[in-house]
Amino acid sequence: MNSEANAGKSKKPVLKGYTLKELKEYFTTIGEKRFRGEQVFNWLYRHLIDSYDEMENVPKVLRQQLNETTGIINRLKLISTISSPQTGTTKYLLETLDGHKIESVIIPDEKRTTLCVSTQAGCPLDCKFCATGLMGYKKNLTSGEIFDQFKFASKEYKEDSIKNIVFMGMGEPLLNYDATVKSLEIFGEELTTQLRMRRVTVSTAGIAPKIMELADTGLRVKLAFSLHSCFEDVRSRIMPINDKYPLRDNLHAIRYFTKKTHSRVTFEYVMISGVNDREEDFKELVKLCKSLPCKINVIPFNSLEHMNPTGISAELQPSPYERTEAFVQALRDQNITVTVRYTQGEDIAAACGQLAITEENNTYSSVK
Ligand code: SAH
Repeated sequence: MNSEANAGKSKKPVLKGYTLKELKEYFTTIGEKRFRGEQVFNWLYRHLIDSYDEMENVPKVLRQQLNETTGIINRLKLISTISSPQTGTTKYLLETLDGHKIESVIIPDEKRTTLCVSTQAGCPLDCKFCATGLMGYKKNLTSGEIFDQFKFASKEYKEDSIKNIVFMGMGEPLLNYDATVKSLEIFGEELTTQLRMRRVTVSTAGIAPKIMELADTGLRVKLAFSLHSCFEDVRSRIMPINDKYPLRDNLHAIRYFTKKTHSRVTFEYVMISGVNDREEDFKELVKLCKSLPCKINVIPFNSLEHMNPTGISAELQPSPYERTEAFVQALRDQNITVTVRYTQGEDIAAACGQLAITEENNTYSSVK
């Protein structure tokens, strides 16, 4: 067993997760040339190597030194995978070195394959419709742990066709802001040539000041916002974070983001019967959509019944299929761009928004 596995308390610097700039700095502080940083960056994030011994253009003595003085390269262990034969969706159950379980999902598609990554083990937000919310919060992932989900998927998923990376797995990326941004920097780096053409989307339940900060980073990243209701009171009922960062503030931040990045926001909208699929919900949504550059991703609600929820969560039911269809059609009639996908394999958010692992018995309890 490696020494880090016990506690994750190792004082050794962990290079996996360092940005290019940080790696260059690191090598100068240990008396090496800056270009070593670039070389190591390539090995870590482009060639996805598992050990320092594989870094052929790094002198043997330095490799040995890195072996002894820095943390081990692989930050995650693969526990199991589940694949859907119909859709090809594959879920990876992974474990951090300090023993926390997380999940990532590969969603194949003819045009582009999507990887959905987690940014936290569990989630502190307690959204009433979300399986991850029910399992509570365990920890923030490090940038290395976020990146290594990509490493796993791209090594296992041989075709190297992961064109989209969505930060829509477990957790709230903007509550783990620094690690999220570092991993975005790594994914966006020119040197990581395989990754250059990829599109990265960060999905948030709405941490308004961090949306603005993200806009100011200048990173080429798309924003998805879990809207789910245009009414403050309804939103607060199903998403308690709305009390701290009300929709009003988030919309202000989103407008700032779209202007600053010249992009449009994707509003995610999980259809919950009687909660956000009424006539008045439709009207407000249309008003909102006409007021800023956006598209809507309508998501059928995946019931939480398998989690035995209590309180409000137990009351939430999916909108009937016909109502969802009518809602979507009515939005389209208003010239609003809407994507909606009914099967789990195709539906990024549904596949991602269902992640939960029961720690007590280690049951892998994600959807069938
Ligand atoms: N915290 C971030 C990212 C994780 S959730 C966020 O809130 O955006 C990723 C997406 O899955 C969100 O749009 C979320 O609302 C959706 N989701 C969560 N639970 C779901 C469920 N039971 N059925 C369908 N989508 C769900």
